[in-house]
Amino acid sequence: MTRILVTNDDGVRSPGLAALTAALEPLGEVTVVAPLRETSAIGHALTLHRPLRLERLGDRRFALDGTPSDCVNIAVVSVLKGLPQLVMSGINLGLNLGDDLTYSGTVSAALEGALLGVPSIAVSAHRSGPEWDFHGAARAAATLAEAVLKGGLPPRTLLNVNVPAGEPKGLRVTVQGRRNHVTSVEERIDPRGRAYFWIDVAQDHWEPDARSDYQAVRDGFVSVTPLHPDLTAHAALAAIEELSLGTTGEVR
Ligand code: MN
Repeated sequence: MTRILVTNDDGVRSPGLAALTAALEPLGEVTVVAPLRETSAIGHALTLHRPLRLERLGDRRFALDGTPSDCVNIAVVSVLKGLPQLVMSGINLGLNLGDDLTYSGTVSAALEGALLGVPSIAVSAHRSGPEWDFHGAARAAATLAEAVLKGGLPPRTLLNVNVPAGEPKGLRVTVQGRRNHVTSVEERIDPRGRAYFWIDVAQDHWEPDARSDYQAVRDGFVSVTPLHPDLTAHAALAAIEELSLGTTGEVR
């Protein structure tokens, strides 16, 4: 029996989660363990300082009052009692592109799956109108899930999938785009005279790159970026050795 674990960061009641689950049902036994509340932008966080509670919502449907990475771990150890063949995360309500990935709970859940040795895919969708339409994203998710179940992924590799609104023109394998990071912080005053802050993502300025995830979605294609957990700047190793180490390899 092919076992597929589904989670997300928008919370167990998200319509994106329902769309993904429905799309994957024909491919195997789908188990959902998703955050009870929305945890968008929580990154790869684990909950270490309070107990976690798992609530059974139905047949193979669970809500955990924790993070997406908590969900993957609790699912493997306490719900599935073993590794699934595939971890799917999403469908996120909004794109997860380029430099923003490390904030993403959606991508982090797939990263957690990859670290556990399970082929893992994060799926995020763009909305163009007032209503969410998950048709394109659900179909892309099912197609890629089927391909990965059949052909596998290289070790320690996950897929970050972003789907444009409407009917995708096709699929592009992409690299992470780069944006010139601008964060807007709005400062306001509360009724007691104290300052409070709202962090918001300001208008993105993407560096032009024909191979990027951003460009693919912008051109109307499903973007598929292979990622790995290794954040080492391999190209910088020589420069850092030059900077900080003597010829003996000891820190000066
Ligand atoms: Mn989200």
